[in-house]
Amino acid sequence: MALYAHVIVDISQEKLDKTFEYLIPDDLAGTLAIGMQVLVPFGRRRLTGYVVEITREAVFDEEKLKEIAGIVKGSVPIESHLIALAGWMRKHYGGTMNQALKTVLPVKAQKRPVEYKRVRLLQGPAEAKNQLAEYQRKHSTARGRLLAALLEQENRELPWNVITGKLGVTGTVIRAMEETGVVEICREIRYRNPVAHLKKKGTLHALNAMQQQVADTVRADYEAGIRTTYLLKGVTGSGKTEVYMELIAYVTQTGRQAIMLIPEIALTYQTVMRFYNRFGDRVSILNSRMTAAERYDQFLRAKNGEIDIMIGPRSALFTPFLNLGLIIMDEEHEASYKSETVPRYHARETAEARAAMTGASVILGSATPSLESYYRAMQGTCRLLLMEERVEKKSLPDCVVVDLREELKKGNRSILSECLSVRIADRLKRGEQVMLFLNRRGMAGFVSCRACGHVLKCPHCDVSLSQHGGGAGRTGRMVCHYCGYTQPQPSACPVCGSKYIGGFKAGTEKVEEIVRASFPGARVLRMDTDTTRRKDDYEQILSGFANREADILIGTQMIVKGHDFPHVTLVGVLAADMSLHVSDYHAAERTFQLLTQAAGRAGRGERPGEVVIQTYDPEHYSIVSAGAQDYVSFYDREIEYRKLLFYPPVWNLLVILCAARREELAAKGAEMLAERIGVFSKDCGEKLYVTGPADAVIAKVNDIYKKVIYIKARRYETLVELKDTAEKLIREREGLKDLTVQFDFNPVNSF
Ligand code: ADP
Ligand code: ZN
Ligand code: ZN
Repeated sequence: MALYAHVIVDISQEKLDKTFEYLIPDDLAGTLAIGMQVLVPFGRRRLTGYVVEITREAVFDEEKLKEIAGIVKGSVPIESHLIALAGWMRKHYGGTMNQALKTVLPVKAQKRPVEYKRVRLLQGPAEAKNQLAEYQRKHSTARGRLLAALLEQENRELPWNVITGKLGVTGTVIRAMEETGVVEICREIRYRNPVAHLKKKGTLHALNAMQQQVADTVRADYEAGIRTTYLLKGVTGSGKTEVYMELIAYVTQTGRQAIMLIPEIALTYQTVMRFYNRFGDRVSILNSRMTAAERYDQFLRAKNGEIDIMIGPRSALFTPFLNLGLIIMDEEHEASYKSETVPRYHARETAEARAAMTGASVILGSATPSLESYYRAMQGTCRLLLMEERVEKKSLPDCVVVDLREELKKGNRSILSECLSVRIADRLKRGEQVMLFLNRRGMAGFVSCRACGHVLKCPHCDVSLSQHGGGAGRTGRMVCHYCGYTQPQPSACPVCGSKYIGGFKAGTEKVEEIVRASFPGARVLRMDTDTTRRKDDYEQILSGFANREADILIGTQMIVKGHDFPHVTLVGVLAADMSLHVSDYHAAERTFQLLTQAAGRAGRGERPGEVVIQTYDPEHYSIVSAGAQDYVSFYDREIEYRKLLFYPPVWNLLVILCAARREELAAKGAEMLAERIGVFSKDCGEKLYVTGPADAVIAKVNDIYKKVIYIKARRYETLVELKDTAEKLIREREGLKDLTVQFDFNPVNSF
């Protein structure tokens, strides 16, 4: 009976997004499976594509169908649920099926995996001895040599490379002996194992009562067949990782597999070791420093059942486990869980979609949950689990908030307040360690007053205005990247009249200089993008500091993620405002998270810790709440703000990004879309708020012009419909061929 395949053809032409039907030739009918990569005739060319469906009946005229030309060598079928997941991603985030498939599909290896070959004797001893005599009679010396050598082996086997090397017998000879049934060549593929070099050490902790209760809750649900999403909100140092490991152990004992997502930056040797100590070779890791071939091998090991647990950043979510039971997402609030390339998926939502398809549970863990997740917990759509104490009752650090405006009044223009300087000196004297943190995020193009702390904001959007142009004596302009509002940059503060108003700039290098000058005896390490260029720099700085080779570590947000330094008793946040005034509605949330995480670094050892937060805006609720280590008070304020301005998670936000080489085209495309959105909003059944088109934050990159439109809607589905409408318009309208349009749902970064 004839079979037909629906194939997604691999062409970079992004707008062509449909399946093509092909006839499956008889000789492939037995082997071809959904998810395989195939060669197909396409026009005059021959292209590769993915089989997404196999049917018994043809949709198109059978006479006109072409045949599949072959299966691409080494092609692995993606499990059919991963194809379904790609379909879900395409629908929810836009882009083409091809782009979605490329995201969920293990990247094909350039290098072949290491193949290990052995040669095994098939004949019994008596028969083999006769054979050997015959070889000698015929002067087949090479064959005789191999046979004699095999007979000497207890297990009647030899590795291929020993035979072709030491014995000097060629592959041709071995194959000829295989043909006549004397020997057999056994092939075994050995995949690279990234944890093979590790040695188990260390002790396991017994869970404390609080940890046990959380683990029991999830386990009881699991045993009762309940699969759902949990939000584990546990203060830094409450022992979340131990709980994860306990649940992974349970789920893998039931014969299912687990994926543990960790932001790349927190995926340190320390973390990997904790998992390795517990699970040994059944664990594998993925990270961006691995080659494509190494990553591919890890996916194959997962598929072959060699491992049960995959640890890695966002992309580890697509590990092809056949019987996935649990997905854990640590530090679930991290922005790096959102993809910045098409499809712009969020790993949190995608994890839930995959879990729903495979009957797995999802645990989201954080000390500072994203507003999205906590909002859902409050709405009852995910289950909240709490761990409010540090392990072994270690206290949370004390927090002091320092008003930098007062420092300026006192005549101290240094980046180090008196309060912080005194405490650094004290720690140095006691031989304890200090971390100084500069939360610089992206391009902090905002302008603020150093005398009163006033920040220039957009009157329409309540986000900071960004500084454009200017410098070298000229004054620039202030621009809102949400709505396009612009005004000249003032030379004096509009609130207090001070002339100390300007861009807020300070780098880690400058800080290092100041710290070295202020504390000449101190050993200082700095960690930022400049000092971590090479592959191992990052681990080296961290382990150097952990081994107390330095007294003070200065760094950007890189230093605040999940590291455990028991001798750090003071954390200084140099300018908490820096992340507060980026032009992005997440600014307060990011600030709160960064400050809380930074504070969480202090006092993880025997001695209690202290935190000093320096700021120009000490009354801001994100700083007040972080100082008090009070998530709920922060959440209550922030969610009100989101409600008031129709921002996620209460509302949903879609950004449409139009890019083109010609500015008129980008502008024209954006205008056309805006017009279409206007029509759509009249009959979509709910109120939409549309802003723009406006220039993107970086309006021109590599000579490509970018325009953005923001649309807010109550329902996510409305925005998905709007996306479909927009995609249709772009396909059908003349003259938009060179326009690139991308969609970003609930973006985590500003455009
Ligand atoms: P979190 O991920 O919540 O910040 P961790 O799981 O990293 O916390 O735990 C913090 C520290 O406490 C780690 O050094 C860990 O080894 C230790 N720890 C965790 N659970 C226990 C326990 N039950 N008993 C003793 N030490 C523990
Ligand atoms: Zn002022
Ligand atoms: Zn605005």
